[in-house]
Amino acid sequence: MMYPDMQSDPSSETVFRPGPMDMIPRVASNGVADGLTEDSLFQSKILVLDDDPSTTDIIRRNLLEAGFQQVMQFNSPCKAIEYLQNHPQDIALLDIRMPEIDGIRILDFLRNKKETQYLPVIVLTAVTDDKTRLAALNAGASDFVNKPVIPSELVARVKNALTFKHYADRIEQNATMVQRELDFDALTQLRNRRAFENYLGNEFSRDDVSDNMSLILFDIDNFKNTNDQFGHRAGDGILQQLAQIISESCTCDEFASRIGGDEFAIICHHEVVDRTRELAQRISNLIKQTPLNYKGQNITSTISIGIARRTPFTDTREKLFDHADAALYHSKRGGRDAISVYSEIEQEIGGHAYLKQKRRIPTREEGDIQDPRNGRILIIDDEPAVTKMLDKQLRKADYQLIEAEHDALKALDRINEWRPDLIILDIRMPGLNGLEILKRLRGTDGISSIPVLIMTSSSDDRIRMAALQLQANDFLTKPAKPAELAARVHNSLLMKFQHDQLREFSAKLRFEVEVRTNELFATRREAILCLARTAESRDTDTGQHVLRVGRYAAIIGRELGLDHDFVSWLELAAQLHDVGKIAIPDSILYKPGKLSDEEYEIMQTHCQQADRIFGGDAENAINACTSPLLQMAARIASSHHERWDGKGYPNGLGGEEIPIEGRITSVADVFDAISSKRHYKKAFDLDSCFRLLEQGRGTQFDPRVLDAFFSASDKIVEAMNELQDQVESDHV
Ligand code: GH3
Ligand code: MG
Repeated sequence: MMYPDMQSDPSSETVFRPGPMDMIPRVASNGVADGLTEDSLFQSKILVLDDDPSTTDIIRRNLLEAGFQQVMQFNSPCKAIEYLQNHPQDIALLDIRMPEIDGIRILDFLRNKKETQYLPVIVLTAVTDDKTRLAALNAGASDFVNKPVIPSELVARVKNALTFKHYADRIEQNATMVQRELDFDALTQLRNRRAFENYLGNEFSRDDVSDNMSLILFDIDNFKNTNDQFGHRAGDGILQQLAQIISESCTCDEFASRIGGDEFAIICHHEVVDRTRELAQRISNLIKQTPLNYKGQNITSTISIGIARRTPFTDTREKLFDHADAALYHSKRGGRDAISVYSEIEQEIGGHAYLKQKRRIPTREEGDIQDPRNGRILIIDDEPAVTKMLDKQLRKADYQLIEAEHDALKALDRINEWRPDLIILDIRMPGLNGLEILKRLRGTDGISSIPVLIMTSSSDDRIRMAALQLQANDFLTKPAKPAELAARVHNSLLMKFQHDQLREFSAKLRFEVEVRTNELFATRREAILCLARTAESRDTDTGQHVLRVGRYAAIIGRELGLDHDFVSWLELAAQLHDVGKIAIPDSILYKPGKLSDEEYEIMQTHCQQADRIFGGDAENAINACTSPLLQMAARIASSHHERWDGKGYPNGLGGEEIPIEGRITSVADVFDAISSKRHYKKAFDLDSCFRLLEQGRGTQFDPRVLDAFFSASDKIVEAMNELQDQVESDHV
């Protein structure tokens, strides 16, 4: 095992760090969208624009009376637009007919500006003005409020629109955060392999060969030697330094990433290959001229580089990657510290001689939002004539997946079975009215968020209000006009699909983060077990001892009521309790008889040896382990032979001076030693084991830890049986 720099002066360390590691935002653990309270809803910023001051006065007053606190009113469209551009709002209420400028034009303008693209806009119209409503819908209006305004309807519609915006914002925020977490390499802060592959995939999907795309691959020369000679931390410093040089050498339209251990890539667009070569050469020179100062030593690195350019024959990203890889391999074979361009070496390497070992680039998953015309639409109305007419109008507008349900009592079953993307719902029906169906739908898991278009007569304000409170998404006035029907159905389905896609995307990314985290945990667990077994295999006959000690320690810790995370670490860390035995000579470790005093003293040094392994022997040592898990392992390794009465080793600590994890592992280790067979002794039976432990109460062992051991003895015995050695133990 190599710890080459453990003895040197830690103060001289200079590891290159391009930026704070905590720049990567964390994913909210509580899911997609939450946190909307009535208080925060009332803090929403609302802008009201109408040329008639009495209308804006009334609307503002209604909203303030309902509890909203930030309502701005404007009577001049120009002033309102100017205000909107400098003061982001959560929602706007907009009049359509104004002398200065038409409201539809304002809507168009808002939808084309980045800052207001997604701003919910409720349009204020006269009840009868269907043409304007249709134009407003097509221009992206979120909803309508009829003038003169009914206060309760106004407030309900504003609340609905704000709630939807809040949820959409949260989903998008989460998606962005998870995306960032998944796309960046934590060590270098450059994009990672996944981001690289997606980017390259996007470039190829544009299908434009004339864009002069090139791929540069970099690989550090003899990096394994550098790691061996100077340690992994120095290696990490070099990776960070190269990342910094690469990212500073790239312009904003050049895409830099770390695609493997010591491999980096740049995707760029240069008119001639010489420009690409210059960029690569500049990076190569900089890395050579800037040795990394690590603990007083200068470490110089070189890199090998391969360049490939996209041509009409490089029709896939895999080919481009293989060509750059072949060029890189050519640089390595030529003695390293070199740049090769694929087109210049193609002849020499005889086509694809280097392309045997292809690296797989997985195909990119596309996440196109579905076309609204593929949406499933369920019409619920008891009148066959109405459903037939709607069906006909929708088919004319290119919708094909349309079904009708005439029996209101069967409507919910039908929705559950067919899972439509949109429901068009009549209100007055025999058996069960539409509002009741809506109420039950909103309360049923799995179907509660399906958008619902309510069919009413325009005069039915009370019903409209009740439907809004049940989160109806929109209304259709009976009899439905074909153009309005098509526009409203299109908007509702589009919104539904966007919502679905964001939700799926968020869930998928969260899943990927979880998979990666689990992989990381599994690797950590296995690495610890390997290390523990390495030490263990020199001491006992089988490798199960370390697993059992870890398990016993965790059972005792849990019984003592220790924190869940602490106990999980304890189970792993306790496995490393004897790791210092790696450094004990075979002649002592394998001696069959009793050890001499001198040999016993050497044997006892395994606690200090462990301290060296975990890097804790030199204060602030650069190699000191920084993870809480390994720090716990270090404490256990150096304290599990201490005794409660202060007569143990190596430091003669007593009572609670001994860390709790050491006191626990001491009991676990002794119990396992006496209850299992070793090459120099037989196993004791359980009663004898328990008696022997009890004899150590208050002298060797912490009484509280011993109590926990005995009260969990059933679990201890269960673990013992589960993890027993392959070789049958002979009990005394
Ligand atoms: P070559 O000149 O042929 O490239 O030789 P090399 O020794 O550089 O070999 P190769 O590129 O195959 O080795 C990459 C090494 O990078 C292997 C691994 O030990 C090391 N490595 C991978 N990831 C990390 C990391 O995150 N930190 C450090 N310090 N080393 C890493
Ligand atoms: Mg290398």
